[in-house]
Amino acid sequence: MQKLFLLLCLTCCLPFWNVTHAQTPDSTSIQRSSPYRYVNATSLKLRIQPDATAMASAVIAGASRVQLLGETEDGWSQIQVSAVVGYVRSEYLVEEQQQVSADVNWEIINAAGGATYSRLVPAASPHRKVVAKPAAGPKVYICGNGRTEVYHSSSDCAAMRRCTYQTLVMSQREAQASGLRGCMKCY
Ligand SMILES: [Zn+2]
Repeated sequence: MQKLFLLLCLTCCLPFWNVTHAQTPDSTSIQRSSPYRYVNATSLKLRIQPDATAMASAVIAGASRVQLLGETEDGWSQIQVSAVVGYVRSEYLVEEQQQVSADVNWEIINAAGGATYSRLVPAASPHRKVVAKPAAGPKVYICGNGRTEVYHSSSDCAAMRRCTYQTLVMSQREAQASGLRGCMKCY
């Protein structure tokens, strides 16, 4: 009888014990769940798809703080810098800015925000590349928000006119190779 009582007592106390435990501040788990990462490279291309051949929409300066949105199983991290979303290889991200070992200018970084420093340079306009390769096929237009799965036949497409991000221009073949498909409205 005593044993049963003890068991009952344990069973009813356990949920409370769990709640108390979960509310105890734990610095290790807080650090692990931090949504921020730092670029451990002199500079890093932000790509529109998790693919090394995908187009870069911007270049992130070394030691910049970025927001981690998710990770793919094959080593890509989806991140957001300013308002731009894109993908980088996860091995170029570290959890703390002090862990950045790449060659960066710490004087500039510390003067411009230290651990909150973040600098993004839009990639050079792809227009020139397309003009230099006229045989590559028809031009397509892509909203550079880092999330889109479609390309458009014209920058005048209604869906494209709503895009508040940089417009990316590339050949249809390049767009298809990046895993994008034609827009339902304009194709
Ligand atoms: Zn369209």
